[in-house]
Amino acid sequence: MNVTELLKESMKTKPASNRGARKKTSTPKDVIRMNFNENGYGMSDKVKAAIVETALGSYMYQDFYAVDIKEKLAAIYGLTKDHVLIGSGSSAVIDMLGEVFINPGDEVVYCMPSYEAFPDMVSDNGGVRIEVPVDKNYKFDLDGMLAAVTNRTKMAIVVNPNNPTGTYVNSSKVEEFVRRLPENVVAVVDEAYFEYVDDDTHYSLIRLIQEGYDKPLIILRTFSKIYGLAGLRIGYAIGDPLLIDELMKACQAWNVGRNAQLAAIAALEDQDYIKKIKALNIINREYVSNELKKMGCDVVKPAANFIYFDAHRDSQAVRNKLAEMKIMIGAPDKFNRVSIGTEEQNKAFIKAMKNVMTEVPKRV
Ligand SMILES: *Cc1c(COP(=O)(O)O)cnc(C)c1O
Repeated sequence: MNVTELLKESMKTKPASNRGARKKTSTPKDVIRMNFNENGYGMSDKVKAAIVETALGSYMYQDFYAVDIKEKLAAIYGLTKDHVLIGSGSSAVIDMLGEVFINPGDEVVYCMPSYEAFPDMVSDNGGVRIEVPVDKNYKFDLDGMLAAVTNRTKMAIVVNPNNPTGTYVNSSKVEEFVRRLPENVVAVVDEAYFEYVDDDTHYSLIRLIQEGYDKPLIILRTFSKIYGLAGLRIGYAIGDPLLIDELMKACQAWNVGRNAQLAAIAALEDQDYIKKIKALNIINREYVSNELKKMGCDVVKPAANFIYFDAHRDSQAVRNKLAEMKIMIGAPDKFNRVSIGTEEQNKAFIKAMKNVMTEVPKRV
């Protein structure tokens, strides 16, 4: 077989994906997972109860239009259900963005390092990746992105807080950036970690949609992170109904399962739990951050539930050594990325990390 000949053009030239989701690797089962930015405390008790109740109904199809969760979100934001798109994780929504908006040759501007789903989405559709390095503080360089906009730019993406660097840009600056984009550029703001940001002046860019913003803007949110529903696969986008209707054309059939829809509704109803997790994360993040600094690591100021740090050692070697001790963390590049877990998980990580600092030689 000449498989390459069978492929569509974009797939012939697409570079290998850096995403776990597209690699032939699995996370071992009996380990402490601090590599996916999951909520180590899991889901709230109310959500657990809701899932047990709904699981036995799994023989029935869900509502394909997901109207209940859409109406729930619409009520929370003071919008209509037509402003809401539901996907099996916000990753699925990212794929829809590519399918609906990106023509071969269209430029998509974002910073790197960032969430690897975006470069994948661009290349899947034959788009051109315009990657601006994050600034010296590892934050999205919005001025650099504006300077990279050309008449071929179709989309500009801000991941805020960013993954893997864990930094955020105050939303007033993101709003200013979005407003300065030409009206033929789709602005996408990924707020997967929005709930973790500890800054009273920081607001969701959903505010612009609420104010009736009339240029193309899509905000991405997920239930995978602070809500603790990563394995159920549900996320959403908020935008003008004109855009959401178009995105729905690329919706995978039966995309979000019944349990996911019902669990997400229950999760939204338990905001006390979200407040509690946010507060715990601040304390735990402080602990991990300080301990890493004491060991001599450089720590990038974190805004979400993970820490991007330089142990001054080969990041793969650090990751592998910890894996031997049954603790999984990430090594996205020269730096490592560790999720903030429960107190117990964090202590285990710090203990193991001390070992790593003596066993793994310094980078030359
Ligand atoms: C984890 C993450 C997502 C969400 O992934 P899901 O598909 O919703 O599980 C989206 N964006 C960023 C930046 C993330 O880190």
